[in-house]
Amino acid sequence: MIDATRVAEILNTYTYVTPTVRLPLLAAVGRVLREELRAKGDSPPFDKAAMDGYALRSHDLGGGSGAGEIANGLSEFAIIGRLGAGDVPQAEVGPGQCVQIMTGAMMPAGADKVVRVEYTERVGDRVRITQAEPNINVIYAGENRKAGELVLSVPCKLRPQDIAVLASHGISEVLVAEPVRVGVISTGSELLSPGEPPAPGKIYDSNAYQIAAYCAELGLPYINYGTVGDDPDAIRQTYERALAENDMVISSGGVSMGEFDYVPSVLREIGAELLFHSIAFKPGKSTLFARRGNTCVFGLAGNPAASVVLFRVLVEPTLYRMMGLEPQDFRFRGTLREDIRRSGARRKEFRPAFYHEGQIQTLRYGGSSHMDAFADANCVIELDVGVTELKAGEEIYVRPL
Ligand code: AMP
Ligand code: MG
Repeated sequence: MIDATRVAEILNTYTYVTPTVRLPLLAAVGRVLREELRAKGDSPPFDKAAMDGYALRSHDLGGGSGAGEIANGLSEFAIIGRLGAGDVPQAEVGPGQCVQIMTGAMMPAGADKVVRVEYTERVGDRVRITQAEPNINVIYAGENRKAGELVLSVPCKLRPQDIAVLASHGISEVLVAEPVRVGVISTGSELLSPGEPPAPGKIYDSNAYQIAAYCAELGLPYINYGTVGDDPDAIRQTYERALAENDMVISSGGVSMGEFDYVPSVLREIGAELLFHSIAFKPGKSTLFARRGNTCVFGLAGNPAASVVLFRVLVEPTLYRMMGLEPQDFRFRGTLREDIRRSGARRKEFRPAFYHEGQIQTLRYGGSSHMDAFADANCVIELDVGVTELKAGEEIYVRPL
């Protein structure tokens, strides 16, 4: 049995990275960006009005700012033109003049301030300022990013807001990672697929659905090879196919010490190297990681809770690393509401919990086959090796599920 640190070290030795592909912007959402992108020009590209109003020379309003402006300076201006967003200013704004301007329009030469329309009154072809405008109301060229500045730090996973930022810089195609192709296998002669009628001694396969659902959520293409009984030949055939067709195979069940747990021996037989087989995690002690060529295999313990937790804790970070993104170990802090105790402390243990407004509530959970607690959970509590108890009121970190 190896500890979490050793598990991480071993997973880090698997360094296969997926190829790079150029994609149109919208096809790249959810992908890992592989190229450094710089602003081609200033953003925004010109000084623009931040308000609907009148662009004029602030000097004309008199010295200083605030209410004194009106008293000291001009309060009426001649309107010499009108600019909508997208228009190109023709005339320069001179002393005592202004241009009616809409939000987003390019500032005309001469003007350096926009008095918002709410602070004005139109009098024919003149405008009267009724209230001091304290703000400049101009967004300057390059204020957002200057030409040549880095737009997104690399690598990163492209979220909708990143796609928007790239679009705002006129970027229409990007180099991104190909997604990891995942093969999903459920082993166990007891497994039925949802939709099949119940049968004595049988249970429904949930792990393949869980793993496939995670892949779908992460935008990864997957092939579900279905359930395979505890039969070495059937297991061999399925793993052979899955290894040939994917970058990562994620299976569940058949990896512990039972007489029908054929997965480790079959993997060895077909030329995979087992890098670990037993880890100090609860749930999921019997979990294996193997590789053959560029393809790796996670053999997760069959218990549904193990499969959920280990996907988040071990599989997902590995998937991102394969796409070139060092995963961030995201956790958040809250106050534990009830004591937690355990007898053994040789393994790192994960328990489902519910986080709300800084409070962490434990859930009724009888152990790793009690899957439904995970439907009520939005995070997991971690009990480190050596920790036998956590006290109510303690500040702890939880991991989102
Ligand atoms: P195993 O790791 O194969 O010994 O399985 C451990 C426990 O998890 C057994 O109770 C199995 O019936 C259950 N199990 C294994 N595979 C699945 C699956 N795909 N979906 C739901 N439960 C499973
Ligand atoms: Mg089994």
